[in-house]
Amino acid sequence: MINNSDKIINGKLSADNFLIKVLKKVEDFENLYERPPCLAVIIVGNDPASKIYVKKKIKTAKKINIKSIEIQLPKDITEADLLKQIDKLNYSENVDGILVQLPLPKHIFTENVINTITPLKDVDGFHPINFGNLCLGNDSIVPCTPLGCLYLLKNEVKNLSGFNVTIVGRSNIVGKPMQALLIKENCTVTLAHSKTKSLREITKKADILISAIGKPEYITSEYIKPNSIIIDVGINRIVEKEKNKLVGDVKFEEVYQLVKKITPVPGGVGPMTIACLMYNTVKASFIRKQKEFRESLF
Ligand code: NDP
Repeated sequence: MINNSDKIINGKLSADNFLIKVLKKVEDFENLYERPPCLAVIIVGNDPASKIYVKKKIKTAKKINIKSIEIQLPKDITEADLLKQIDKLNYSENVDGILVQLPLPKHIFTENVINTITPLKDVDGFHPINFGNLCLGNDSIVPCTPLGCLYLLKNEVKNLSGFNVTIVGRSNIVGKPMQALLIKENCTVTLAHSKTKSLREITKKADILISAIGKPEYITSEYIKPNSIIIDVGINRIVEKEKNKLVGDVKFEEVYQLVKKITPVPGGVGPMTIACLMYNTVKASFIRKQKEFRESLF
């Protein structure tokens, strides 16, 4: 593995710097409202990867004085009971953000869960109202991973206007909101997916390539425009020499030679995703309090 190179976008360092700014906002909130912002995290079942993600989120919240509530529910909980739990949190005065860790067991419709979280507490930014606002170019709560990618990109390029960006992967949590964010930045965006023809011809023209497909080391040097910026969202678990290893969608060692900048996996987009969740929690806290204030005037 290549270390400490100026070609590598250090997501951990960027996340730490960003969290210092978020902490300041947490303090402002506490000074105004005499309590910290509060994030409720629901986890259904015992998926080991989900448990690790939730643990990381709660640890980061604690680090910057955001209060967190972890709600562990059995994997056979009915959808109706899960929705009731969410509704309780929707109405709880002291809960500012609600996150339901995905994926959910197959008998639960993720869409119903997302739609039940009030948009005001939707710190994942997945609710159709938040997503709709993002697509309209309005201020909204933006999904954490694309927001983190944008933050990393803006650290590298102050003005993204006119850049030719290709995103590979069109999921609702990464690809589509990423496209909306970059259009707002005046980029020219191509959104590719599994049915895209001649993918390589498209990616080779990209000044910035963002990959979110979940295929280990799929993007080789043949897909890359020399001197481009690569954001690797993929997190893939592989076994190498009988050891578990995390790799991205991009064949890092090979692509690294060609590019201007690249995010590593791990230590790239992942830490920024969690930092943006903290940002969204504080943002949701302020938005709700300001709404309460406005409504109290009439
Ligand atoms: P999804 O499975 O929901 O979406 C994958 C997308 O990639 C789909 O749009 C699919 O196309 C497309 N795709 C799959 N194979 C190909 C291919 N060979 N060529 C072109 N497009 C392809 O995944 P997610 O968006 O949820 O996640 C993607 C990756 O990002 C995963 O590895 C996940 O672990 C990681 N991730 C990382 C996060 C982080 O914080 N770093 C956060 C969230 C996700 P189609 O729509 O046609 O099926």
